[in-house]
Amino acid sequence: MFGCSNDYVWLSKDAMTTEPRHPHLLKMTDPPTIVGHRCVACERVAFPPDPYGCEKCGSPASTFEQWDLQARGSVQAVATVHRHHRSTPVTPFTVGVIGLVGGPVVKAIVEGDGVVVGSTVEGFLAPDEQDDDGNVIVDLHFRVVE
Ligand SMILES: [Zn+2]
Repeated sequence: MFGCSNDYVWLSKDAMTTEPRHPHLLKMTDPPTIVGHRCVACERVAFPPDPYGCEKCGSPASTFEQWDLQARGSVQAVATVHRHHRSTPVTPFTVGVIGLVGGPVVKAIVEGDGVVVGSTVEGFLAPDEQDDDGNVIVDLHFRVVE
């Protein structure tokens, strides 16, 4: 049973009740680490992992090695979502196309104001919703860094 201590850190990786929505794609480090892969043959780095093999040289996915990607990059495109089919995240929210410093491009929610093409953004773990067992599910969001 959990106590009511004020120093309970609910995004701590030690907290038993917090988990990423896609545990195989995200490590709960601080800042979080995106788990991609690298083709051993041509060194192409990709995210998310491609089950069909390398898009560049055709090597089978069995030759890929896991490749940690820093959750940091530059905004290449930005859009504000006003209507959404789920109750979370609450609209309006901003989605950015982010070119990671490690190469791959991801789409993710970018929180805060002043997100423009060219903004440097960094990832963090945002609590999204609780599952039926009360576990907090976290997603990777980004925010603008100065
Ligand atoms: Zn390749």
